[in-house]
Amino acid sequence: MAKANLMDYEKALELFEVVIGLEVHIELNTNTKMFCGCKNDFGDEPNTNVCPICIGLPGSLPVVNRKAVESSISIGLALGCQIAPTGGFSRKNYFYPDLAKNYQTSQFRDPIAFEGQLEVEVPSGNKFTVQIERAHMEEDAGKLTHIGGSTGRIQGAEYSLVDYNRAGVPLVEIVTKPVFGVGAEGPELAAAYVRSIREIVKALGVSDARMERGNVRCDANVSIRPHGQEKLGTRTETKNVNSLRSIERAVRYEIQRQAAILAAGGTITQETRHWHEDKGSTSAGRPKSDADDYRYFPEPDLVPVEPSHELIEKLRSLLPENPADRRKRLAGEWNFAEMEFRDVVN
Ligand code: ADP
Ligand code: MG
Ligand code: ZN
Repeated sequence: MAKANLMDYEKALELFEVVIGLEVHIELNTNTKMFCGCKNDFGDEPNTNVCPICIGLPGSLPVVNRKAVESSISIGLALGCQIAPTGGFSRKNYFYPDLAKNYQTSQFRDPIAFEGQLEVEVPSGNKFTVQIERAHMEEDAGKLTHIGGSTGRIQGAEYSLVDYNRAGVPLVEIVTKPVFGVGAEGPELAAAYVRSIREIVKALGVSDARMERGNVRCDANVSIRPHGQEKLGTRTETKNVNSLRSIERAVRYEIQRQAAILAAGGTITQETRHWHEDKGSTSAGRPKSDADDYRYFPEPDLVPVEPSHELIEKLRSLLPENPADRRKRLAGEWNFAEMEFRDVVN
């Protein structure tokens, strides 16, 4: 594959405005899976924590995990979201070997939490308010391991193994609105945002929040547009970037790559992209339209989730101090530099 041209970062920012949108998946640390009683532990021997429900055998009936609903509400409240009085699940239909059901059970129309915001501080000390569009509940897919070939990806592999222990593990997907006006600090903001989300779910105790284990996964949407242009540029979505440092690098890379294409008179293709840590670059995945043809329809086997006012208020009263505020407070009280003990406190 030919190496992509990159525009110098400063030059790219002179010519273009950057717009970023982040999707973060949080794997909840409930004892059992989202819709069945299987253990939520995919470190076990492959395919031992499985049952007819999580592998989608005909006639099996799912039941919503109460703890997962409570954890999702807590996440929503910590992000200043409104909590939906009623919300159901949908089937997102697609075929892939890690999805034995042939559909993912997900909240589509009615996310449990919506319209929040999170203030995020970047290393320069600048603060940005990131608007949260929604946080919704869904289930994870199984884990594929591709054997043979050099990249660990499906292309070039001799065969693949599938472990359904992770299938049906509860996830919360947090989606931001497009973030504008970040200037040169878009890459830093993307990483700082994911760091904040990670700190919050850790403080809430709802996730192990270990990025290297995939408990926190981020897809980074990036587009650029000439300064003054109203219409948003075409975005790319870089998938599953699994460290804070690589989020920052991947966003910066996409800005420079897109700028080089537009400046040369080309167009950006709306697509998913893969981040390659070793090469420090992204490569094209699959084309992606806004209206993916997933044939969403309401899940007929589950009743809507209707959290009571009492439950929501109880969870609100149990919210821990915001980790960033806590760090500031302790740094002041103990007279420490804030950065020095970020990882100790959290
Ligand atoms: P999808 O299912 O295609 O991933 P989502 O709605 O889940 O769509 O997430 C899309 C993300 O991309 C959101 O965070 C949204 O704010 C962001 N986004 C949408 N349009 C743009 C754009 N033109 N540039 C950058 N980010 C965008
Ligand atoms: Mg998405
Ligand atoms: Zn199961």
